Amino acid sequence: MYEHEERLRNGQTGAYRWFLTRGAPVRDEAGQIVKWFGTCTDIDEQKRTEEALRQSQERIRALIDSNIIGITCNEGEEGVLVEANEAFLHMTGYTQEDMRSKALNRVKITPPEHASFFQRAIQEVNARGQHAPLETEVICKDGSRLPVLVGSVIFQKRPRQTISFMLDNSARKELEQRKDAFISMASHELKTPLTALKLQTQLVQKRLERQSLPEAATALSRMDGPVKQLERLIGELLDVSKIQAGRLEYLQEAVDLEALLQEITETMQQTNPSHTLVVRGTVGTSLLGDPDRLGQVFTNLLSNAIKYSPDAETVEMDLSASEETVTIRVRDHGIGIPREQRDKIFERFYRATGPRQRAIPGLGMGLYIVAQIIKRHGGTITVDSAVGKGSTFTVILPRKRDA
Ligand code: ADP
Repeated sequence: MYEHEERLRNGQTGAYRWFLTRGAPVRDEAGQIVKWFGTCTDIDEQKRTEEALRQSQERIRALIDSNIIGITCNEGEEGVLVEANEAFLHMTGYTQEDMRSKALNRVKITPPEHASFFQRAIQEVNARGQHAPLETEVICKDGSRLPVLVGSVIFQKRPRQTISFMLDNSARKELEQRKDAFISMASHELKTPLTALKLQTQLVQKRLERQSLPEAATALSRMDGPVKQLERLIGELLDVSKIQAGRLEYLQEAVDLEALLQEITETMQQTNPSHTLVVRGTVGTSLLGDPDRLGQVFTNLLSNAIKYSPDAETVEMDLSASEETVTIRVRDHGIGIPREQRDKIFERFYRATGPRQRAIPGLGMGLYIVAQIIKRHGGTITVDSAVGKGSTFTVILPRKRDA
């Protein structure tokens, strides 16, 4: 059989195309070739496709070998690692031999507590062909963990092949940890002298009163406001760093929410004569939780409602209850929150942008703490808002909860 690929020139256009020429000899009884029987097939398209594929494979190879980021090729539903570039091997300590033996898969190199993130990433890959960069950790060959940023795309559907891109995220994580440690240390360092200062002023104030110097005592008492404000800010900083470290402690006791809310609104009304606080409805019986932390939630929501509605006269609190839950709505008629920022306001240190928001001071810690406390109570918080009209924060808490 004769088989040969060749380029033939079209006599009219002068253009070359690839052909596959095949020929089979036809022999006589003595075995002598008498003629050739052959075909000539235009395989130009096929050649072009092959060439394009080769080029794209070369490009992918160049990308993988670039070693700017870690890249792995994963097979099947479990994401078995079959190929990895030097950058990935360097980051994790695995070897080409580990890849060849197909001993590793996504589950094996992912810390168990991150498994749920990965599950979500896989769902995203199934739905959209790729997943957004995910902050996670990879378990290295020596068992240590490396913070990484991972993204994946489906490369081939059947049999399934995905490619994952991995960026060493340890420098950023370390910086974050240092910032957290700084906040924790700073809040403790600030708290100690403040406590001493508070005690001293109280002592001096009492002494002045005993010495019948009421004017001096009054002057000194003006320090109360700023000292309280500092105490609150430092307290919030401490809370944020405790939440971050998973060390914020919660009591678990019966809370008379109705009485708690009444106490809070009365205090808030006294200290904020600019607004009228209107409370409607009831929440009835008690629920299980931490009274101080729950108090912190509603003090925060009410003070935000007042703070972010400088031109309004009222702030309303609506209470209602069902058999399973209690609902508390805090409504203001203030500046509102732009739609795209509504989810972000519950994040740590997030403050809405915009000139009206920026003009009102704050550190972006309150709602983060609020959301965390509510979460720990098994509840939810949502916000509804119209820019220039006002916002409503809705807190739903379960009445009973498993310990
Ligand atoms: P802070 O008020 O200290 O900035 P918070 O965590 O309490 O921090 O709130 C985060 C952001 O959410 C605020 O910066 C503000 O922009 C926005 N916000 C909170 N409550 C309201 C409200 N009632 N009306 C309008 N914006 C609000």
